[in-house]
Amino acid sequence: MMTSDPHGPADRLADILERIGGAARLAGRNPADVTLIAISKTFDAPDIEPLIAAGQTRFGENRVQEAAGKWPELREDRPGLMLDMVGSLQSNKADDAVRLFDSIHSLDRPSLLKALGKAMKQQDRYLPCFIQVDIGEEEQKGGCAIADIAELKRAAEGDGIEIAGLMAIPPVDREPAPYFALLAKLAKDHGLAGLSMGMSGDFETAVQLGATHVRVGSALFGARD
Ligand SMILES: *Cc1c(COP(=O)(O)O)cnc(C)c1O
Repeated sequence: MMTSDPHGPADRLADILERIGGAARLAGRNPADVTLIAISKTFDAPDIEPLIAAGQTRFGENRVQEAAGKWPELREDRPGLMLDMVGSLQSNKADDAVRLFDSIHSLDRPSLLKALGKAMKQQDRYLPCFIQVDIGEEEQKGGCAIADIAELKRAAEGDGIEIAGLMAIPPVDREPAPYFALLAKLAKDHGLAGLSMGMSGDFETAVQLGATHVRVGSALFGARD
């Protein structure tokens, strides 16, 4: 389909990729070292299809049930697509999550690790996981305490689960840069290469501070209800 809508999904995707590239180069980084994850939560197939058509291959969701309702069909005959779980995960959904997703960004507690480990073993399907860190020490948000990263990492590796890196969501009402810098330092301290940080409002800052995976939703899909 030919379209000339300057604000269509393909144009928004091109714009975001260009901004990621610009931020990476500004920091002396290779743009290819940053992966864009398109967060499609609340959007359905008609909104997602145009981004797939425009070349986006990696998507993310924050709820198991919602992902189960749309992605199996979207992924049919498209082996190149990847799906990331970025939302908080209940242990009783671990089995479904391991079946549906290719990576988990919200590993934040031993009980979830145990459930994921069991599901991965049963399905013989081992997903790389990011440890989500409660970087702003906010009680209501997910994420493990900074002091618990090492133990969670050790336990995961003992279970044969690959820890890809750290993930965090900075407090909404604060300047995000110091939190991104802290997460980058923590990843380095723990010998982890992956940094899942940066959303629509702050992904360029995150890329300048070392993000390897940015999770962008509304800037690609438009505002959510
Ligand atoms: C919704 C969500 C995003 C994307 O947020 P936008 O501000 O729409 O880009 C990123 N990460 C997580 C964990 C989310 O839940």
